[in-house]
Amino acid sequence: MQRREVDAVVVGAGFAGMYMSHLLRLEGYDVQGIEAAADVGGTWFWNRYPGARCDIPSLLYQYSWSEEIRTSWKWSEKYATQPEILAYANHCADLLDIRPLYRFETRVTAAHWDEAADRWLVDTDKGEGLSARFLIMATGALSVPKEPDFPGLDRFKGPQLVTGRWPHDPVDFKGKRVAVVGTGSSAIQSLPHIAAEALQVHVFQRTPNFSLPALNAPISDEERAAFEAAWPFYKQAIDTGEPGVELLPEDWDPSDEELAEHVKILWNGGGLVSTVQIPRLTKDERINDAACDFVRSQIRELVNDPVLAEKLCPTSFPISTKRACVDTDYYVTYNRDNVTLVDLNEGAIEEVTARGIRTADAEYDVDIIVWALGFDAMTGALTRVDIRGEGGTPLRQAWYAGPAMWMGMMVAGFPNLFTITGPGSPSVLMNVILAGEHNVEFANAVIERMRARGETRVAVDAAAQEAWVDHVRREAEGTLFPRANSWYMGANIPGKPRVMLPYVGMDYKLRLNAAVAADFPDLRFEG
Ligand code: FAD
Ligand code: NAP
Repeated sequence: MQRREVDAVVVGAGFAGMYMSHLLRLEGYDVQGIEAAADVGGTWFWNRYPGARCDIPSLLYQYSWSEEIRTSWKWSEKYATQPEILAYANHCADLLDIRPLYRFETRVTAAHWDEAADRWLVDTDKGEGLSARFLIMATGALSVPKEPDFPGLDRFKGPQLVTGRWPHDPVDFKGKRVAVVGTGSSAIQSLPHIAAEALQVHVFQRTPNFSLPALNAPISDEERAAFEAAWPFYKQAIDTGEPGVELLPEDWDPSDEELAEHVKILWNGGGLVSTVQIPRLTKDERINDAACDFVRSQIRELVNDPVLAEKLCPTSFPISTKRACVDTDYYVTYNRDNVTLVDLNEGAIEEVTARGIRTADAEYDVDIIVWALGFDAMTGALTRVDIRGEGGTPLRQAWYAGPAMWMGMMVAGFPNLFTITGPGSPSVLMNVILAGEHNVEFANAVIERMRARGETRVAVDAAAQEAWVDHVRREAEGTLFPRANSWYMGANIPGKPRVMLPYVGMDYKLRLNAAVAADFPDLRFEG
């Protein structure tokens, strides 16, 4: 096959991919971007379900690297809606003139390492072949929706919608009976909107989730000005890896009364930021229990029916060991007459019928099914591509027992490959746009060093990788995370190895900076 030669292939046109492509072009590389979607935006292109918003305040959930972009965009609300975030992604794409670098509606299907040439041979579903020195997978940690696999799916007569692949045209729920399956962030955000329109909504819940109030509001000019004034401090924190918010000391030792008082910050609208302001929340059982008790007490306050309130109270995992949800009116939506909870612990889903969903207990007739089942997170987008490294080893095989990688970014035996926000990085535990920036800038620094020295091949040292995998595992073992059947642990996908996918340590950016400063001691350069 005739292959077009480029310096780099960047897969994905979300925030990470766009930044990577921009940086490489700026430095004069010939870049080919490839994106399965019809346009830029990644997560925010695909997840158009009603109520979709960010769970990190908009002023922080944006690129930090460009003054021009930041100062030319005005967020309207504390937590921006999906249309506003997508408009922001388009604004970035326009300012950066990124689209000419991309082939859209094109999926990378395979990438094989050519050892003789030190290049990646990349195939797409459009039959195009590329040969690239570098392959950057900015394919997203949450970009492969978990598909429903219940018997009888094809029999259902009405529309079936997956939150992670929501249609572009508005869905009309008026007068409809709707099933919402799942109670993660996507369902928690969409339920109040669907329930406000629909005739009837049945929510199918297997595990209740902890959700914190967004207390969403427009951003005032004063708040905007205060943010701009504090920006140099935030930016410094982002670049150095410092926390960026004021934290109590890690050895904070409150009395029970002080603890019970402090955990009330979970209701102050700070969302995920508030969880970070409770020291050792995901490490210390006493502290975590106090936070769980507080949130459960709030659920009981909000939900009128005490039996229903108990069903909505999570008890099977410590708070924050699944990404906490941030909602507007989720719990009070269950006070509506047109919303019922189907507790799948009392009877699991057995099949989808022509008329709806049948559990072990009952059959629910509906007109529309909304599947909010989550994602094959962190590894899904990578293992779906037939990536083969040295000796033709498939990545799927190398990761058979769980992802083996260094800093979530590089894989031994897979030279010149960078995985942005990959497993083993802290990405999904933090502000993911900033996590992407950190990884993109690191990959860029490696590529720049190679150009400066005329090197053609970089690979991570196998022993350094082993040490990192071990470190990620040990750090997780010192926390409460392994107690949850979460997507962090790979537990949401049948057959996926149960390992903690994100890195929980707080020193990741410090480590990246140290690696750059020390000229990448864990990497081996050749050529
Ligand atoms: P993505 O935005 O996922 O982009 C990856 C792109 O790669 C996708 O467009 C995909 O189509 C493309 N792709 C994948 N595989 C291939 C292939 N083989 N060939 C071609 N193209 C491919 N994070 C936060 O920090 N705060 C939030 O509030 C937040 N809210 C979220 C809400 C939802 C509903 C979801 C699903 C995630 C949310 N996240 C949030 C995480 C979010 O994914 C990141 O914040 C961020 O948008 C990821 O950007 P990215 O560029 O790394 O990946
Ligand atoms: P999720 O948190 O994984 O939730 C999926 C839900 O589907 C869970 O309730 C799960 O139940 C249920 N489920 C899965 N398979 C099922 C089955 N076979 N039968 C019954 N129930 C099943 O997915 P998500 O809601 O899409 O969120 C994923 C992540 O995306 C979030 O954690 C967050 O990082 C990001 N996100 C963020 C926002 C935001 O607020 N900005 C919004 C959406 C998503 P179990 O818990 O029992 O497995």
